[in-house]
Amino acid sequence: MSKYSLWTVIRNGLNGQQGWDRQWRDPEPRESYDVVIVGAGLHGLATAYYLAKNHHVRNVAVLEKGWLGGGNAGRNTTIVRSNYMMPGNRQFYEHSLKLWEGLSHDLNYNVMFSQRHHVTLLHSPAARDGAARRYNRMRLTGSDGELWDIETLRKEIPHLNYDNARFPIIGAAVQKRAGNARHDAVAWGYARGADMQGVDIIQNCEVVGVVRENGKVVSLQTTRGNIRAGKVGFAVAGNTSRLWQMAGFGGLPIETHKLQAFVSEPIKPLLDHVVVFGVGGAHFYISQSDKGGMVFGGDLDWYKSYAQRGNLPIVQDVCECATSILPCLGRVRLLRHWSGVMDMSMDGSPFICKTPLENLYLNAGWNYGGFKASPASGWFFADLIANDRPHETIQHYTLERFHRGLILDERGAGPDPKLHG
Ligand SMILES: Cc1cc2nc3c(=O)[nH]c(=O)nc-3n(C[C@H](O)[C@H](O)[C@H](O)COP(=O)(O)OP(=O)(O)OC[C@H]3O[C@@H](n4cnc5c(N)ncnc54)[C@H](O)[C@@H]3O)c2cc1C
Repeated sequence: MSKYSLWTVIRNGLNGQQGWDRQWRDPEPRESYDVVIVGAGLHGLATAYYLAKNHHVRNVAVLEKGWLGGGNAGRNTTIVRSNYMMPGNRQFYEHSLKLWEGLSHDLNYNVMFSQRHHVTLLHSPAARDGAARRYNRMRLTGSDGELWDIETLRKEIPHLNYDNARFPIIGAAVQKRAGNARHDAVAWGYARGADMQGVDIIQNCEVVGVVRENGKVVSLQTTRGNIRAGKVGFAVAGNTSRLWQMAGFGGLPIETHKLQAFVSEPIKPLLDHVVVFGVGGAHFYISQSDKGGMVFGGDLDWYKSYAQRGNLPIVQDVCECATSILPCLGRVRLLRHWSGVMDMSMDGSPFICKTPLENLYLNAGWNYGGFKASPASGWFFADLIANDRPHETIQHYTLERFHRGLILDERGAGPDPKLHG
């Protein structure tokens, strides 16, 4: 497959766009692979890419029941940030942000990563103190973060509701290196990068059973036949509990919930940043896409489900948040809304870990935050699978942390998965 460069763009411009290759192959599944990853979302594809690139493990298949990037990968609101504070999360998400910063070059694919600032609005002195603690911690550990006073915020984002808000805005916590990216492009970039190194990405191939023998997975039963595997990684986000049961286990500290996203009709440039508004029960985040649509989201739908569609009360709730913080959106029409199925963990932090089966590995529990995490998740999951031991950065991302009381509750919301975003 040819690499993208200025030269290939010019050459294909001159020859009527005849010279572009397919982005990835459509192979038939083989009988056996060294590693099989289940789920061609961002985490599965990134894992396959880094297995091949960093560890030279190339006899790899990624099995996907639908089409690649058709799950949460292509449904999210694309926010990328590393403003985490807890030990473990801090290093992990900063590693991810650093990978984002070089991702388009690394993949030779424009993922449209835009470092347009992540701006969390503050509404009380207590919130400002909390943000100061978090953002100072970030600065002390090599990341960026700053607090803006109200004058700076007014200058940067003039359209917010400063004068008539139920919860007056007093400033903002800002991470300038944060922003967003084009989610499909990330999935396609990782898929292309993995395929170029020999990884088989097999779409329309649902895993329906896990065959185990002597404490190991021997093969996976799929809708396209049995596939033997030396090692198996689950990266199926909201469907993790289903796969976990197929592997013969009981419950997981994960619940599956729905999260909706929204996009408005395109409008002229209005908002240069990603803005987050969360006070008094509201939870809302918004940015403007390159095509002009306002892209936004809020809370979960508040009940467990595997359905990839959302309900009207949340539409109303999110639109109320939108107009309360940006009243000028009041007459903008909502174009589309959709939903994804989230793997919400009990403490809001993920799992990248070994399992009770010797050659089975788990990647799950991403909550609302798995888009920003996907490069580091793939990087560390590949490292775990290749070396059969966790890197020290992900040593806390185990299932055992609940047995040992070492929970990673970044939000301080307690053991209710619905409350962790
Ligand atoms: C509306 C919404 C907004 C979000 N906003 C953000 C955000 O702004 N920032 C952020 O960081 N994160 C965000 N997220 C979270 C993020 O999108 C997810 O955490 C992340 O995409 C999950 O990882 P994934 O991409 O691997 O999952 P998915 O793309 O869901 O991949 C899992 C794949 O596994 C496949 N699969 C499932 N079962 C099987 C099976 N039996 N056999 C084969 N394949 C199977 C599925 O078809 C799916 O393609 C958001 C999510 C949603 C839904």
